[in-house]
Amino acid sequence: HWCGHPGTYTEQMEGPIDEAKVRLRFPPEPNGYLHIGHAKSICLNFGLAKDYAGRCHMRFDDTNPVKEDQEYVDSILGSVNWLGFDWKDAKETNFYFASDYFDYMYEIAEHMIKNGLAYVDEQTAEQIKENRGTLHTPGVDSPFRDRPAEESLRLFREMREGKHPEGSMVLRSKVDMSSRNINLRDPAIYRIRFAEHHRTGDKWCIYPMYTFAHPLEDVLENITHSICTLEFEDQRAFYNWATERSVPITRAPLFEKAKAVLADLQKKSFEEIKPFAEAAVKFKWKLGQTETERELASLLADIKANPENLNDASAHAIVNAVAAKPEVFTPLLQDVLSATVKPNFFLLPHQYEFNRLNLTYVVMSKRKLIALVKEGLVDGWDDPRMPTLVGLRRRGYSPEAMRLFCDRVGVSKQTGSWIDYSVLEGSLRDVLDAEADRRIAVQDPIKLIIDNYPEDQIEEFESPNHPQHLERGSRKLSFGKELWIERSDFAEEPPKGYRRLTLATADKPAMPVRLRHAYVVQATSVEKDSDGKITAVHAEYFPETKSGTDGANSIKTKAAIHWLSVKDALPATIRLYDRLFTVPKPDAGEVDFRELINKNSKTVMQSYVEPSLKDAKPEDRFQFERNGYYVADQKDFTPDNLVFNLAVALKDTFGK
Ligand code: ATP
Ligand code: MG
Ligand code: MG
Repeated sequence: HWCGHPGTYTEQMEGPIDEAKVRLRFPPEPNGYLHIGHAKSICLNFGLAKDYAGRCHMRFDDTNPVKEDQEYVDSILGSVNWLGFDWKDAKETNFYFASDYFDYMYEIAEHMIKNGLAYVDEQTAEQIKENRGTLHTPGVDSPFRDRPAEESLRLFREMREGKHPEGSMVLRSKVDMSSRNINLRDPAIYRIRFAEHHRTGDKWCIYPMYTFAHPLEDVLENITHSICTLEFEDQRAFYNWATERSVPITRAPLFEKAKAVLADLQKKSFEEIKPFAEAAVKFKWKLGQTETERELASLLADIKANPENLNDASAHAIVNAVAAKPEVFTPLLQDVLSATVKPNFFLLPHQYEFNRLNLTYVVMSKRKLIALVKEGLVDGWDDPRMPTLVGLRRRGYSPEAMRLFCDRVGVSKQTGSWIDYSVLEGSLRDVLDAEADRRIAVQDPIKLIIDNYPEDQIEEFESPNHPQHLERGSRKLSFGKELWIERSDFAEEPPKGYRRLTLATADKPAMPVRLRHAYVVQATSVEKDSDGKITAVHAEYFPETKSGTDGANSIKTKAAIHWLSVKDALPATIRLYDRLFTVPKPDAGEVDFRELINKNSKTVMQSYVEPSLKDAKPEDRFQFERNGYYVADQKDFTPDNLVFNLAVALKDTFGK
């Protein structure tokens, strides 16, 4: 399922997998609407949780006070649900706001100061940047790096009390100024921001930096696999630094209990401990390199002989074994089995990176999406041309099509690859080809008058709802003297190879064309308005060519066109959409993306549709035969105002 990289991802993930202890998270910042790139991350995280019977947490990473908003929170939740995923299960809600951890994060920060792992730096932002060094030169220690812990603590508390202006100082981790990885050169972990937070109001004027907040959030929620995009690869070292230093603090009480348990175990004989090994192996827990029963047994023997070898990993093994076979060990381990103990509470979360989705003909940066909306370049966040999930939904994309797309795109570590927009369209087409009922719409209507058809005669012709699924039934279309046909199905001056309705010329007869499910007709003349625009085409029909009768093939035709009877066709608005940009990579070049907008990306048509479409519901999807796949507009469609959006054309015709 982790397309492409079984050798890396799945191997690393083995261990907890069989035990259904996988915990993932989808952590958007509520500072915008989700886009198609997020869909990839959602399908990956929630999808893995589903595949491995684990859990995926819905977490709002709202540690940055500016730009975050309830409107975004609501829309994000709606989109995740729409894609078919849920964070709730029978036991847990798994719904979190990172801002709920501010107290906890503050505590960890103080703990780090007290333990010489962080200091308040009063250099200016420029100095800090300057002294961070480069790839080729080491960083330079801040003059405040070795200030006493009490001084940092006092200043940090003053920062929290609002006694220092923004930018005057930051709290920095104390890691390694000469590390080859610049991200380890004492990154800032707290900064002053006099900003209102959408949930905590003005309680705080210092906020944790993302690089610090994120690992702590994962530790607190017992996340096992923290999956992010590849730009964060260089951050993994700091992620590990922060988790390793906060796990023991966060889980200290439990750790103490486990140590006590182990101390008890060490008083016992090896024969008595052996069941642990068996239980652990039976449940296939992998512990570092320990894969076989023999290895686990020798680990336990080793700890018994050398108590100083007791560490997180060995305690972890014991606790897991206990959790696996409680009936055997309960008397001994009553404490450990208290309700709060989770089997993976000694497991450090691990960060994994995957390639982000790059899709042609769209922009995905939040800044640009916001610009499109705020500058009125599109009709809001859910404009059907937008790559937002609300936009794609309104365009007619179904959750199945979105998931199919994410599956096809796959996950790997390869950077710089681009997915062509046609892959997205192909996914929708493939889903709708099977699912959507067929209907008739005349998008750009022109009247066809059959002069030799009796004035008051009405016939009905049967049209199947799906040609490959006759069990889905059919409906009747009434036929009469006056019909609507597509303007493009008649040509007064036909281009070469044109096979539809034409007039007779001196050297060629008029082209005979079949009206689908009905008769063969031939055009005879046209009516025009004062501007020379054709308003109607006159034709004659051949009664013996009625579909399904012996004479049906008595006149050969090269095309069959669709039609609607003027008497009962319903007026409808059809919005035709095309790609929003004219070039594949609108944010790649020098030109401002606004200048690359496809001015023909939206066309509104006054059309006619068959009467049955009055019963459609918003978001119902159909194939309008010969035209494409359409959706009844989520917001504007009512029985009295039929509005459809083109979701995707029948074939890829872009640029043709
Ligand atoms: P910005 O940097 O503009 O804030 P973001 O992409 O970081 O945007 P988040 O809300 O932080 O937005 O993203 C939530 C999750 O979605 C992250 O885990 C991120 O990795 C993932 N994600 C965002 N964009 C893409 C993309 N194009 N492809 C795959 N995953 C993505
Ligand atoms: Mg973001
Ligand atoms: Mg982000």
